[in-house]
Amino acid sequence: MNKKYFSTAIPLVLLALFFFGCAKKDQELKAALESITAEELSRDVEILSSDEFEGRSPDSKGEEKTINFLKEEFLKVGLKPGNGESFFQELPMVEITADPVTKLEIKSDKKSMHFAYGDEFVGVTLRVVEKVSLDDSEMIFVGYGIVAPEYDWNDYEGLDVRGKTVVMLVNDPGFATKDPEFFKGRAMTYYGRWTYKFEEAARQGAAGVFIIHETEPAAYPWGVVKNGWTGPQFYLISEDKNLSRCAVEGWVTIETAHKIFESAGLDYDEIKPAAAKRGFKSIPLGLKASVTLINSLRQSKSNNVIALLPGADRADECIIYMAHWDHFGIDSTLEGDQIFNGALDNATGTAALIELAEAFKMLESLPSRSIIFLATTAEEQGLLGSQYYATHPVCPTAKTAAAINMDALNIYGKMKDITIIGYGNSELDDYVKAAAKEQGRRVRPNPTPEKGSFYRSDHFPFAKQGIPALYTSSGIDHVEHGEDWTLARKEKYTAENYHKPSDEFNPNWDLSGAIDDLRLLFRVGYKLSMESTFPNWKEGTEFKAKRDADMEAAKKK
Ligand SMILES: [Zn+2]
Repeated sequence: MNKKYFSTAIPLVLLALFFFGCAKKDQELKAALESITAEELSRDVEILSSDEFEGRSPDSKGEEKTINFLKEEFLKVGLKPGNGESFFQELPMVEITADPVTKLEIKSDKKSMHFAYGDEFVGVTLRVVEKVSLDDSEMIFVGYGIVAPEYDWNDYEGLDVRGKTVVMLVNDPGFATKDPEFFKGRAMTYYGRWTYKFEEAARQGAAGVFIIHETEPAAYPWGVVKNGWTGPQFYLISEDKNLSRCAVEGWVTIETAHKIFESAGLDYDEIKPAAAKRGFKSIPLGLKASVTLINSLRQSKSNNVIALLPGADRADECIIYMAHWDHFGIDSTLEGDQIFNGALDNATGTAALIELAEAFKMLESLPSRSIIFLATTAEEQGLLGSQYYATHPVCPTAKTAAAINMDALNIYGKMKDITIIGYGNSELDDYVKAAAKEQGRRVRPNPTPEKGSFYRSDHFPFAKQGIPALYTSSGIDHVEHGEDWTLARKEKYTAENYHKPSDEFNPNWDLSGAIDDLRLLFRVGYKLSMESTFPNWKEGTEFKAKRDADMEAAKKK
């Protein structure tokens, strides 16, 4: 072998090996993607949404069935328990049923008004105690009740609300003014969500907090508030038994708000727009609120299911796929069908976890990072399982590259597009764009960001902890029927089946679009799992500061 030949042959051999290696990787990836099929997905959806699973309510026989089914399936796939020796992560919960006969009393110097539970106000205490009350608690109108340093906004500036009752508007000033440069314009920010408003009021030390309901900025009518706040409710129990929460958290109707402002000598319709302007100062109402809440309490518990595929090189870092397994169980007061099967919501997402796990197991060479498959509980009760996991993670938050949430897959067939709920928030958008391109599809932002969907499913508690979180939803532009057809089908489903016993498995569903979406999400997770970098939130989002601080703290350890 002469020298010349030698020197050109080596690079050629290396090049050939490189291409062979790539071709092999491509082959592997292709096989993994093709293993995700509609037949297998629909089989598991049918099982999970069958009457035998009793509507998958937390802390029920349905839970036992569901979590054991998932454990068995993950074992069959060959995954490891994700929580030490166990596939389960138990969360302590309390079931609170508020006394529905209580009245809210509001007194001025001149008169006293009484408001009825359900029709005029709702209120609960998350404190794990049998009785709480507000007694002549001074009332203050605090505008939107927001402290947002990135928007240079503080409704509590210079106020001491300790022991007082704060009253506030729903949503945020950006929505109110429709100014796209203010907060996020029409799109709801986290500051617009009622959950934030209650948390902030607690941080400020308020005893009571009431949000004024209005249908448009809340994105749902009073009936939804009323139903959601009467009857038994599950809550997580924190170490302090939730004593750091406000004593009373609730809502008042717009009619109640008008009466409250009137008796304070104020015009609600004048003050409302003022509260959305810079320089607004909170207003003591000169009124006193009293209410007593008697709880019936039941200690309760439920389980997240966590399965692990350990990474080949950086097993301490992870990507999370998640979907909530729970739904509403059985309502024995109903005539006819009493089982909330939750087939679309969210047997589809739960079954998808198994499909994705199988696909990752197909890969001959394991991903570098670990993949966690997390089936959360009590999403329908207020994102409790995801909140618990995000604050008790099995893979540290700073080592978690991304979380990908699936909640209700596409049952209408192939789409030319895919929707990102919370588009523009994080660098994960770019991963979705790249994966969509492979399928000849395009990415679209959520058409209705004012509904705050980004804050209403399980990825959100992850975002709050700083973990970049992705939530996609099926596209709208149907390959054969176009956009209007899909929107009409989706609206029909929401009106007739959403959160109703009729959300049942249908063998005629066209899951081909769901399979496209799952293959796309597989690509996203696979790419993330092979990288050593960490995606981040974009500048100006509510979650970036938290992520930056978390990564910084992890570096110092
Ligand atoms: Zn759901």
